[in-house]
Amino acid sequence: MLVASPRMGHVDILLGDLLERLGIEYMVPPKSSERTLALGSKHAPEFSCLPLKINIGNFIEALENGADTLIMAGGRGPCRFGYYAEVEKRILNEAGYEFEMVVVEPPSMGISKFLGPIKEASGKSSRKIIKALKESFPKAQAYDMLEKYVLQNRCYEVIPGSTTKAYKQAMDVLSNIKSTSEVEGYLREAISVVDEVDKDPSRDVLKIGIIGEFFILLEPFANFDIEEWLGSRGVYLERSVYVTDWIGPAGENPVGGASPSEIAELAKPYLSHAVGGEGLQSVGHTIHYARDGFDGVVHMFPFTCMPETIAKSILPRVARDIHIPIIHFTIDEQTGKAGIATRMEAFLDLLMSKKRARAGN
Ligand code: SF4
Repeated sequence: MLVASPRMGHVDILLGDLLERLGIEYMVPPKSSERTLALGSKHAPEFSCLPLKINIGNFIEALENGADTLIMAGGRGPCRFGYYAEVEKRILNEAGYEFEMVVVEPPSMGISKFLGPIKEASGKSSRKIIKALKESFPKAQAYDMLEKYVLQNRCYEVIPGSTTKAYKQAMDVLSNIKSTSEVEGYLREAISVVDEVDKDPSRDVLKIGIIGEFFILLEPFANFDIEEWLGSRGVYLERSVYVTDWIGPAGENPVGGASPSEIAELAKPYLSHAVGGEGLQSVGHTIHYARDGFDGVVHMFPFTCMPETIAKSILPRVARDIHIPIIHFTIDEQTGKAGIATRMEAFLDLLMSKKRARAGN
């Protein structure tokens, strides 16, 4: 059995580590590319959301490279994500691909639905799977914390590209983690690699929060590497969701910085219930960033994404009430980096002039 999953940020690191501990052979599909998207768009329904199209492209490329088993997260509404695994399976079968599909439902749908498919695939007991999860999850959190640190520090680099280079080296440091007791030490060492980058702490940076649909935020191919682009233009960044926040959303210490209940409380005056995906979080995190003195918010989501369309209809009122500028980007397969860059440049100019006006310059 050779298992593959869709690509989404560094979710492959968590999954690869977990499956290795369970003795399952795992392959990472090729990096998402224009070809991946073209393959997915060819087979997926036109109005399906972009993540589904990229997932299908990833799966086709994994099957072409020898994978015979595909692993996919399940879920339940109200957004379409809960149907992804079944829809993807049918689309690929109709296109003539043969494979086994393992669907792992979130623990909130019942522990047996979560553990059952992993037990079946690995032949391991629930106790062994939980033990493996307890080892893999803190390691994945370390990757998230390192990523967060990079987002906060790239804006001060003196030599363009030096933080990205250091980040890759720091990720290599984290790959040495074998047990939970090693997480803290290796994370400290990885952060010290980023700290060695020559920085100018006196630089006048903009502070921006990035909110929106999880896949677009977590997968650099889908967001046109917007974080690196912004960081290299002197923007200090925070992101509302990280891989381990998404996988373990009930976590008490999310890497994103505020717990789901705190975010829901902040969103309450505007949206009092979950609407699927990260719709509620997008509203709550905007208020969170405004309270923390951020200069602006970037909202990114796929075309036809229902939860984020709801958030987008609410956010203009939030922006007016709490005086925080928000720019929205709807992404589909027609979106190009140049268009995003042009609008983003104008947004950065606006934020900087507002900041200078506040400072009386
Ligand atoms: S959150 Fe939006 S883009 Fe993501 S699966 Fe749901 S509807 Fe699609």
